[in-house]
Parts: sequence; structure tokens; C-alpha cells
Amino acid sequence: MAKLIYKFGSMGASKTANLLMTNYNYKTQGFGTLILKPEIDTRTHQVFSRIGIEHECLSFSRDQDLYSTIERLNVHAVFIDECQFCTYEQIEQLAHVVDDLKIYVFCYGLRTDFQSHLFEGSKRLFELADKIEQLPSVCECGNKSIMNERFINGRPTFEGEQIECGAEDKYITKCRKCYFEDQRKFKSETCIDKAI
Ligand SMILES: [Zn+2]
Repeated sequence: MAKLIYKFGSMGASKTANLLMTNYNYKTQGFGTLILKPEIDTRTHQVFSRIGIEHECLSFSRDQDLYSTIERLNVHAVFIDECQFCTYEQIEQLAHVVDDLKIYVFCYGLRTDFQSHLFEGSKRLFELADKIEQLPSVCECGNKSIMNERFINGRPTFEGEQIECGAEDKYITKCRKCYFEDQRKFKSETCIDKAI
């Protein structure tokens, strides 16, 4: 039976590498596959892993119906990179792809944004996925990292828009303890800045 699978992790958790390896396994067994990613990521038509592997993909817009996109293609498994940027409706469309078209859907992405809140796509995946797996990564202190901290000009920041396209190098993965320590420092520095 096909399944909707959600694999989440913070930055640097090898999500795209995991996606590409699983895609490769399916392909070598003779299954047709498709890799999709939201257009919000500026690096369109390719998925890249930091460990140096890449693959062509199809990009889709926020208003695109993923069910009709996938229905037209003869595939057995679909892989979504950066699935946190899918809309609520698109995650539901992917659930229908699993249930009605009997196609496996693997979603890879972040759980939370730089302010530690769920993304729209991540939230709906937690609600609907058949299987959920956390891909591990480690903080500089050695703890398990689960947060994505945003840096601007080398300084952590906890304010701003949820999505900054192509700004990936401004994020560092942290454990919860280190993240909140940085947030406390940020808040006290911001108070001082405002007081001056
Ligand atoms: Zn830490």
C-alpha cells in the first residue's frame, strides 16, 4: 500500500542527500520516479545536497495542483524537496495522490522556521502523514540540533519574514538550549540598541 512519508530535519540534516539516495534506489529497481520542489527556492530545476550530489527536478508554484501534475505522469514514487513551502492544499493533494493513485510520496523538509514555528506544509504533514521520521543533525555544543537560527551580518536574528529566498547560508542549525540562549542575548541587545 502506498504511503505519505514525511522526513524532517533541521538545516544540514542531509535531507536532500537522503531524498536523492532513496530516489536512486527506486530507479535502480525499475520504478518511475519524479522529484518536485516549490518555486520559492531560487535554485529551480535542480535539487542540491551539501555533500555534493544533485539531480534535475520539476518546480511548482504555490497555486499549482499537484494531484493533476502527478496524475499525468507514469510514476511509482514522488519526492518533494523543501516540502515545508507547500501549501495546506498541496499537502492534501499529495495525500490524495497516495490514496487514489497508489503512488508513494516522500516529503523532505524543515519542521520549523527561524522563529521556531511550524511551516504551513510541515504542519499539514504532521497532521496527515502515514509515517514521520526525524533526520538527525548536531549542534556545535554536541546536542541534537532541532532549530534553525537565522544570521544577518554574522549576528543571530529572531525578527523578519518567514522566507528569505536564497538566504540559506544565513542559517545555522542549533539545539534548543543554544537557540534560546542566543534569543535571550538578542532580546537584551535589541533593548539596549533601542535605549541608546
Ligand atoms: Zn547546542
